[in-house]
Parts: sequence; structure tokens; C-alpha cells
Amino acid sequence: MKYDVTVVSKGIALGKAYVYKPFVPDVTETIVDDANVEAELAIFDKALASAEVELNNLVDMVMKKDPDKAMIFEAHKAILKDDDICTDIKDSISGMKYSAEWAIMFVYNQNIEILSAVDDPLIKERVADLYDVRNRMLRCAKGLEEVTLASLKEQVVVVADDLFPSDTVVMDKEKVLGIITEKGGVTSHSAIIARGYGIPAVFGAKDPLNTIAMGQSVIVDAIEGAYILDPTAEETAEYTKKKDNFDNYYAETQKYLTKPAVTKDGVHIDIDINIGAPSDEALEPAAYTDGIGLIRSEFLYMDSGDKLPDEETQFQAYKKAIEAFGGKPVTLRTMDIGGDKQLPCLPLPKEDNPFLGKRALRLCLDRIDIFKTQLRAALRASAYGNLWIMFPMVGSIDDIRAGKAVVDEVKAELDSENIEYNKDVKIGIMVEVPSIGLMSDIAAQESDFCSIGSNDLIQYTTATDRINPEVTKYYQSYSPAVLRLIRFIVKNYNAAGKSACICGELGGDTLATAVLVGFGMRKLSMSASNIAGVKKLIANITIEEAEKLADEVCNMPTSDEVEARLKEFANAHGII
Ligand code: PEP
Ligand code: MG
Repeated sequence: MKYDVTVVSKGIALGKAYVYKPFVPDVTETIVDDANVEAELAIFDKALASAEVELNNLVDMVMKKDPDKAMIFEAHKAILKDDDICTDIKDSISGMKYSAEWAIMFVYNQNIEILSAVDDPLIKERVADLYDVRNRMLRCAKGLEEVTLASLKEQVVVVADDLFPSDTVVMDKEKVLGIITEKGGVTSHSAIIARGYGIPAVFGAKDPLNTIAMGQSVIVDAIEGAYILDPTAEETAEYTKKKDNFDNYYAETQKYLTKPAVTKDGVHIDIDINIGAPSDEALEPAAYTDGIGLIRSEFLYMDSGDKLPDEETQFQAYKKAIEAFGGKPVTLRTMDIGGDKQLPCLPLPKEDNPFLGKRALRLCLDRIDIFKTQLRAALRASAYGNLWIMFPMVGSIDDIRAGKAVVDEVKAELDSENIEYNKDVKIGIMVEVPSIGLMSDIAAQESDFCSIGSNDLIQYTTATDRINPEVTKYYQSYSPAVLRLIRFIVKNYNAAGKSACICGELGGDTLATAVLVGFGMRKLSMSASNIAGVKKLIANITIEEAEKLADEVCNMPTSDEVEARLKEFANAHGII
């Protein structure tokens, strides 16, 4: 049976489904008979033993890859075996006749409540751990196996309702052949990660958790936008061939990966990469790219488990990225938490419209302590190369000034401590809110550079939630309105002699490349997996052709018409 879905990361995958259903506890107050107390105590003991075995296995497995993450699970072991908690649970079973599950829930919740009320961020951070251990215990008490993407036993197609950045960060990517989700979106952060890893991925599946079984055979067609359950032998043969064709096209395109991006008429376009945390693997493209156009620094925070990364940890990470790129520009975006990115260690009040709420720079300006720690680390690292600092979610000139004022304060502190940093470090902005795009002539005077965050710029210009599948058709990546706005921004920054880059997904989209170059953009930043395709397209076009195409599509009435024209153009220039 074949189902239509939306492609978020191209490719074909054939394999067995791994239905990812994270455990959600559902426990109500239950009092047992005297006769059952012993049995409930035994359930608790068994759950404790199973949870400990799981945590030991996790520590062993993660320790080799990521010792810091292993420490989180060590901390969980300590909570699990905490004498007070264990005694309270047993007393609740023996004395109050609570069922084992209810006793676990009750005692953990009491502790969670107490810690949540303490006005100390470090103590509050333990709350996330308590939730985690509580849920592990409740699942073990039910005798259910752990479902996690961190420890897949074989290569699978992951089927999920939604994947959060916290899921994909721990995901064992070697084992993931493809991804099918219900929720998400082309520019959701898990989609960006899937593309970064080159994993074929689709979203928009209808109720996949209840319609796809664990171990069921599935084909993911992340070219046409479909998945097939229990494929026939003919379908398997057909898609194995399609996969080979795609893999061949991919291999041919990869030949462009390490070449410079130069148009047919000799104009060089800077190709930068977007990265999360600066791991060795993420920094590999240093040799064949012109810089880092975007460090999504919040990934460092998401990776840091139950506590915020301290200044030294951040300094080392930023310095590592800067040094890997020699004198090439390295653009550090300050923390962009909020929207679909949450931190276990920084619980935030629930908002009705998180994408319109206290996100990114807004949050940083409210939590100056966190912001300053990051800026101190960044400025210290700036002494080691060519660092550019960039603020996300800038909506007004006030925001630019407020962000720069904090940078100045931090600079003054470093001066007074005689700590070295680059006094001329560039300060720029993401243009992802239309209001600052429309002010880009003045913004270009008040900032050293800009980078267009097309993922959010499309979201905010078209008033469409970027991760809500119900409104996907309104999230128009090739909206002529958005293109006109981008043209306006590039024109203003170019006129001011300041760099205008793009680091949203459009920056790595081969359908958009020629248009962006046609607007006058000379720097594009993208996930590593997009570099080869974009370089290939650039090698096949002239500036004149690009300018003509850019004019043409800005005068088209609809996104669909623009997209059709861009597909035609890209196909004629070697891209499928
Ligand atoms: C963007 O909005 O285009 C962008 C690059 O930022 P993020 O996707 O991290 O929100
Ligand atoms: Mg953004």
C-alpha cells in the first residue's frame, strides 16, 4: 500500500520499521489489599533492578562516543538508588498500601515539587533528571522495554509521531536508513538534522504509530514523496533500482564537493556551512568551504544534559571551530532557544505561541546572565581567528542596539580583567522577521553583516507555523513575496558594502541557488549535505542567467508557478 507524504530529505530507503513511541506514564492513585503489598514491593524491587541494568548499559554504550552524556546517566543512577527516595516508596507501599506504580509516581512527584520551588537554577536543573528517572522506573514497573533512538540494534526506518532535536541529537545515525513522521516540516529542526546526515526523510504520514507495525517492511520514497508498506517483490525491485539511480546521481554530484563554487563566467560564490555543536565531524568541511555561516549554538546547550554549558566549555567549543577554519569567517549565532527548541535544563513557562514568544534574542535579553556567559566565551574565542557574532530573532533596530549594548558591557568587563579578544569582532543579525527585513537599509548601517534565516522569514512572512503539517501548503518556500523581501534585503546590505548571506534551508536548496545569486548574494550557507549540489548548480550557470531568472520569478503570481519554473531551470542545469 502506497501513501503520499512530503519530502524533507531526499533519497530512497528500504528496510524494517522501528516504531518510536516514547513511553508516556499514565498512573492513577491505586490502593491495594493487604494481601498484595508483598507483590507490589516485589514489583518495585524488580523495576529498580531493571532500571539499573538499563542505565549501566547506557553508560557503557554512550561512554565510548560521548563521555559527557554518559555522566548524565551516572547522575540518573545516583537518583535511582537514592536511599531516601527508595525508603519513601517502600513505606508508601507498606504503610499507605499504594500500588508500586502509584508509590513511585507519588514519591518522585513530591521531590519534583520540592525542587521546582527552590529558587536556584542549578537545583531546578535536577528536576528534568527526576522526571526522567521517574518515567524509567514506571516503565520498568510495567515491564516495558525502552524505546530509544540512542541504542538501535540494527539498521531501521524510524517511524515516529514527531522527532525533537533532543531525539535526533542522541540518534544512532548509522543505523537509521530513513525516517517517516507525522509531524514536522521541511524546516523543522529534526528535518534539518536528517538532511545534515543525508538520511531520506518524509513527513505528513497519517497516524503512523497506529498504522505501521514494529518490524513491518517499508520503502521510503523521499524523492516523489511516498512510503510503501509491505511492498511487493516488483516494488522492492523497482525501488532498489531507483535507489541505485539516486545513489549514482548523488555520487556524480559529490565530485563537486571539494571544488570552489565558481559560475561559468568566473564569479566566485562563498559557500559556508551550517553546524550545530562544533564536533570533529561537523568541522570536516573546513577544507572545502569558505567559512561557517551558522553555528546553531543552542545545540551545545541541548547536548549539555541537565546543566547549562559553562563559559569554559563554550569557549573551548567556539575556539575549536574558529581554529579549524583558520582565518575564514566563523559565524556564531547566539542561543536560539524557544519555538520548537527547548532545553531540559532551562524549563520555560508554557506559551500559547512559542514561535511568537520569548524566543532567542528576546530570551537572552531577559536572561542576561546566560547571554553574558555566552558572549564572554565567544569574545574570548575571537582572539583565535575570525569570529563573527550574530543575533537571532531580531525584530527591530532596538533589538540590534540592545544586543550590541550587552556585547559592549561584556567587552568592558574583559578589558577590566585584561582578557584578550578581537576588538573588531563583527556583530551581525539574522534577518528572519519581516519587520527587520523592511528596515534593512537602516539595519545595514547598525550591523556589520546579515544572514537571512529563510526558515523563519517564510514562517513569519506567510504567517504559517513551520512545523504544523496542517498548514504545510501555506508554508510557501518559493513565495514571490518572500523572494521580493530577500531581494530588498540583499540590495540594502550590498549598497552598504556589508555582507548578506542566507543560512536558512533556502540557502542550500538547489532550486533557489540561481535566484539568490541573481539577487546579488555572494555567500550562501547550508548543511554539509547540500554543498555538492549547490556547487554543481553554480558551476553550470552564468550571472546573467541568474539575474534574468531572479527577475522573472519575482514577477510571478504564485509560489507553485515559481517552483515549477525553478525545477525546470535546475533540471536544465544538471540537478534532479
Ligand atoms: C532560519 O530561521 O532560517 C534559521 C537558519 O534559523 P533556525 O532554522 O535555527 O530557526
Ligand atoms: Mg530561525
